[in-house]
Amino acid sequence: MKNITVLGVTGSIGMQTVDVVKNHLDKFKIVAMSAGYNIKQVEEILEMIDVEYVCVVQKKDAQYLQEKYPDLKVTYGQEGLIKIATLPQIDIVLNAIVGFAGLVPTIEAIKAKKDIALANKETLVVAGHIITKLVKENNVRLLPVDSEHSAIFQSLNGEKHQQIKRIILTASGGSFRDKSRDELIGVTVEEALNHPNWSMGAKITIDSATLFNKGLEVIEAKWLFDVSYDQIDVLIHPESIIHSMVEFVDTSVIGQLGNPDMRLPIQYALTYPDRDVLVNGESLDLAKIASLTFKKPDLDRFKALALAYKAGRTGGSMPCVLNGANEMANELFRNNKIEFLQIEELVEKALKAHQVISDPTLEQLVEVDSWARNFVLKEIGED
Ligand code: NAD
Ligand code: MG
Repeated sequence: MKNITVLGVTGSIGMQTVDVVKNHLDKFKIVAMSAGYNIKQVEEILEMIDVEYVCVVQKKDAQYLQEKYPDLKVTYGQEGLIKIATLPQIDIVLNAIVGFAGLVPTIEAIKAKKDIALANKETLVVAGHIITKLVKENNVRLLPVDSEHSAIFQSLNGEKHQQIKRIILTASGGSFRDKSRDELIGVTVEEALNHPNWSMGAKITIDSATLFNKGLEVIEAKWLFDVSYDQIDVLIHPESIIHSMVEFVDTSVIGQLGNPDMRLPIQYALTYPDRDVLVNGESLDLAKIASLTFKKPDLDRFKALALAYKAGRTGGSMPCVLNGANEMANELFRNNKIEFLQIEELVEKALKAHQVISDPTLEQLVEVDSWARNFVLKEIGED
């Protein structure tokens, strides 16, 4: 039996994790889970599965839950997150919190020698140098949940690291993949949220439309697979069937294919190194799909991707600025405070204004993240 803590259980990845666990109750138990503000949904999950610990953001929600469920152990805030991520009985922490908020619980879980199933890519973007070092020191597994990185991880099974030539990260292209730059002027939040292939949380869906998601994934891949930026290529693949590939020194290319279904990478991170039946998983019918298409991304059109490569190559605190400015700008766009194209403009300005710190500590990263967010707010006169 694997004891799991799920951080961000009420989100898109979190709920699909609950689904995977419910289908394999002989193998997995969600001992602890965290949520944000959606307490009704927490109660629905409590009806479905037997959980011992719950952590929420606000004290008043914790008090409400504690009164209603006296046997439940309820905590709140960042302290609560750290508590449930480090409980002695936990084997693996699945981190499906969105954004920078996932960083500290990941670090504390690794220090407590928990394996990590990581959906929260922002953690690696911001602090890849800290996380990878801690993973080695504590001898834990860092298992990707992001579908592309799971595909790369699966493609590397049994292969030698020094024989990797390059990684080919596929990208659906998001909601606006067929639009020219001029056609992006005035696009609405509703249009951006209408992803052609995946149903995901709001932040990542907007990131897919700007391609910041792919940019974050380039940096995530660099840290997960210890390759240089020159070894990571992005390929637009609108059908999202080949989830990513690896080319080896002999030019052989190995990739992982499947229908777009996040439950598979979630389940693989939990069952690794084994596989198990994906309940209600649909077999891939390539004859029905008939054709798969590919296109090189235009870095002038998808500026976010160029910015991410640049920030990644500069390294140090620069990816933290990229991430923090993007989180803020993404939220402002979702709240109709800025235009779609302003997201990348604001991130670019923040990157230009930042004095890079070469080997930032966690405390410095927390400061840089908040500087980047405030920079964006000031730029639009909202501070
Ligand atoms: P979501 O918005 O649906 O869910 C986010 C979860 O995090 C919710 O449970 C929310 O309550 C919680 N949360 C948000 N802010 C928090 C905070 N400050 N403190 C504590 N909890 C907080 O997001 P999602 O789409 O499930 O994505 C989660 C993560 O997984 C993101 O990093 C995303 O990039 C990554 N990811 C998602 C998908 C997908 O298919 N949804 C695919 C690949 C990677
Ligand atoms: Mg992905």
